Amino acid sequence: MAERAFLADVGGVAVPTGHLIGGAWVASSSTFESRSPLDWHRMHLADVARGDTATADAAVAAAVEGFVAWSRFTVAERAAVMHVLADLIEEHTEEIAHVECLDMGFLEASMKLRLVARGAANFRLYADLIVEHEERHWDAKDMDNRVVRLPAGPAVVITPWNAPFMLSTWKLAPALAAGNSVIHKPAEWSPLSAALLAELANQAGFPPGAYNLVQGIGEEVGAALVADPRVRRITFTGSPSTARRIGKAAADNIVPFTAELGGKGPFLVFADADLDAAAKKAAWQFDDSGQVCLAGTRLLVEESIRTEFLERFHAYADALILGDSREPDTDIAPMAHPDHRDRVHGFVERARANGDRVLRGGNKVAGSLHYEPTLIEPASNDSEVVQSEIFGPVLTFQTFTDEAEAVQLANSTAYGLSSIVYTGSRERAERLGRAIRSGLTWVNTFLVRDLTAPFGGCGISGIGREGGEHSLDFHADLKTVMILDGTTV
Ligand code: NAD
Repeated sequence: MAERAFLADVGGVAVPTGHLIGGAWVASSSTFESRSPLDWHRMHLADVARGDTATADAAVAAAVEGFVAWSRFTVAERAAVMHVLADLIEEHTEEIAHVECLDMGFLEASMKLRLVARGAANFRLYADLIVEHEERHWDAKDMDNRVVRLPAGPAVVITPWNAPFMLSTWKLAPALAAGNSVIHKPAEWSPLSAALLAELANQAGFPPGAYNLVQGIGEEVGAALVADPRVRRITFTGSPSTARRIGKAAADNIVPFTAELGGKGPFLVFADADLDAAAKKAAWQFDDSGQVCLAGTRLLVEESIRTEFLERFHAYADALILGDSREPDTDIAPMAHPDHRDRVHGFVERARANGDRVLRGGNKVAGSLHYEPTLIEPASNDSEVVQSEIFGPVLTFQTFTDEAEAVQLANSTAYGLSSIVYTGSRERAERLGRAIRSGLTWVNTFLVRDLTAPFGGCGISGIGREGGEHSLDFHADLKTVMILDGTTV
């Protein structure tokens, strides 16, 4: 356990506030503050170590050493440690869910049920995949050919403030499974569940330096980490503007880089769909206050069902309860940070000035960081609210007259992460599955997916694919070994 000096009491849970470097918790001379979106002015949670270039240097040095030890573990040994970590995550579900709820505002019940469980599942998935993996092996050109995966080296893992625990495990698990050491840099708006995860990892049996955590500000310690030439992989989830900066650093050192970025997903509803199911799921896009990259934020509805759809949609949205994230009845959590809530409101104010029509919501909620679930009918498809990621509880509403127009609108932004289609036609589902330019298309469902499937975005929604073997290939140096037939001992 981290030393007492590096612990904060966060809602009754002891959370390390330092960096984990080479298996030991260390402090920094300066700190940044973590506050709770549940009661921003009164709930100070922790003063967290604010890493600098020296911190980044020490973390990379530790990860270089940790890599030597961890990459020598056999696949079975690596898998065993990862299963221990998954067990520890499950044992600490309550604490992780509570801390993430306080730190980021996430609904506590949802954290317990969905996201902590998914975090453990991510470690189990990759532990099992490395054990089950069979090397490709074939005979050609009078040679025995095989493809082996060599661990690549230290990997920097940079994660965003929304869904921080689950998203961190999604990126850390494959890096570790592949035999790489990791340096995790979580977001400064929600750093605390990453500290709990690092503490559990430190108990799970990784050799010192295999699992490192660095806290701090992106432009400071984050930039120093990605610029370090000893780093051999960079995997990032966040905004396109940060990805551009990190991509330049990766290019300077010729380091492979994956980026999972923002989205502006279309949510298409055809007249032949189960209208009630579609309206219910459309209103569900306000979940997590819309701070979800995969959300279908552009409602595109067939003109002939406009009125009926909107009636049902409003009925479902009206029933959503905005409340305290710790209460089990709450549907909509506060936004993670006052700056972000104000940024979201800025989009709505500019939309009003632009002549876009606010069909519902459009206001801050007094006395909390909630923002009203908002629906806007834009004056044109070029409106900022259609073209830019808002990342809040703000959806747009547009209609189409036929499938061709629906596809054209769906593909009309620079993003391409996810898309959702509601239709009763299997043929249409197959057609749109190919016609819409996005990394994922859900038909008559949303969010559930098999974790071995490729995951990533088109356009400015990302570079590369993660998930299952795709992540393991990214984190490895794939190598071909060719042995002339007849070679004997
Ligand atoms: P962000 O880009 O501002 O920050 C993400 C992380 O990058 C943070 O840890 C930050 O400290 C770090 N960072 C910032 N500048 C850096 C630099 N110069 N060098 C190194 N690191 C730096 O993003 P955010 O606001 O935290 O997250 C929200 C964004 O993430 C949204 O666009 C959302 O859609 C996207 N997102 C995408 C996915 C996905 O899987 N595609 C998932 C969740 C969130």
